Amino acid sequence: MSTNGLSKPRILTGDTPTGRLHIGHYVGSIENRLALQDQYECYFLIANKHAFTTRADKPDDIRQSVIDIATDWLAVGIDPNKSAMVLQSEVPAIDELTFFFAMLLPFNRVMRNPTLAQEIKDKDLGDKYPFGFPLYAVGQCADILAFRPLLVPVGEDQIPHLEMTREVARRFNQLYCGVNPHVEDKDHLAKGGLFPVIEPKLGRIRRLVGTGAPNPETGQLYKMSKSLNNAIFLSDDADVVTKKVMSMYTDPTRLRATDPGHVRGNPVFTYHDAFNPNHEEVQDLKSRYTKGKVGDVEVKQKLVVALNTFLEPIRQRRAELEAQPGYLEDVLAEGSRKARAEARETLRLAKDAMGLNYFPKARARVESLV
Ligand code: ATP
Ligand code: MG
Repeated sequence: MSTNGLSKPRILTGDTPTGRLHIGHYVGSIENRLALQDQYECYFLIANKHAFTTRADKPDDIRQSVIDIATDWLAVGIDPNKSAMVLQSEVPAIDELTFFFAMLLPFNRVMRNPTLAQEIKDKDLGDKYPFGFPLYAVGQCADILAFRPLLVPVGEDQIPHLEMTREVARRFNQLYCGVNPHVEDKDHLAKGGLFPVIEPKLGRIRRLVGTGAPNPETGQLYKMSKSLNNAIFLSDDADVVTKKVMSMYTDPTRLRATDPGHVRGNPVFTYHDAFNPNHEEVQDLKSRYTKGKVGDVEVKQKLVVALNTFLEPIRQRRAELEAQPGYLEDVLAEGSRKARAEARETLRLAKDAMGLNYFPKARARVESLV
């Protein structure tokens, strides 16, 4: 595997601080981050600037969410000695890259991004969203490419964003690094390109659905999302998990416990499949459910046990972290410092490629002083 001239191949991924992390994030992306921490040089970004695209009037909430997400990361087992935990607002090179990348993507191409269109619908943004809302999709290309990673572990909703990122990388390499348009994606670096044509790494569950009823217009269940009030959070306590599960949406065609029920598309079973390690129990519940031999209450009670067993060690680590004030700040400051240097180097290389290195002698003098 090409490592882009770096000692270890890199990973970049992140979360927007619009709330706390939920079990969808865990199976969609976090699990992969934990599994890859040793083999890769990891950068995990808290996209706090992007949170302003929908919450510019709530800076205090965004600030709190940054703390919540960083705490969630440490509680699930992200190790700051292996992985840089990065605050987006501390890495200014990303903004400069965003500006340049905005020239490489046609406006209509950005607006056709299906994830943006879905978010506008799901978050009820109508036509009132700010200019910065679609710009975040371009910014995300810069978040990623600033670190020149090979792999980006994400959930399915991010695929359109990653496809745009791949387009930007190809276009940049062709325009400014002399890469021939016929060169295959995997060969871009070897042929002199600056940016890798990144690869998505999807999670075990690509799109975990939320706890609520489907969209009445489309009949489709919503994605579990921190903005949609349909999530089970990694920080929910046992009682909250119980309440959320017991009032969860299930098979609407089943009125009595003796009616045969549907397992497919039933979120209660989706969660059992994802979080209950006792496969025999899950098989037994499914078989009895389809025959009308088990009530929703029992199926949900068993799910509560499975989820609380999964969440308990995370809760314990969170409690330990809360007893160490100052630690989080140190971790974020150090991760951001490392990221700032790497992104600055990428920006320097990008500007060189674009012919924007106007004062090379002055720069050499400055660099010799650092
Ligand atoms: P928001 O509603 O503010 O967009 P979100 O819940 O979609 O929040 P993000 O911060 O946008 O969370 O996503 C962080 C990562 O988690 C992305 O890689 C995304 O694909 C993944 N992810 C988010 N929700 C899910 C889900 N329900 N299932 C699987 N992966 C998910
Ligand atoms: Mg999202």
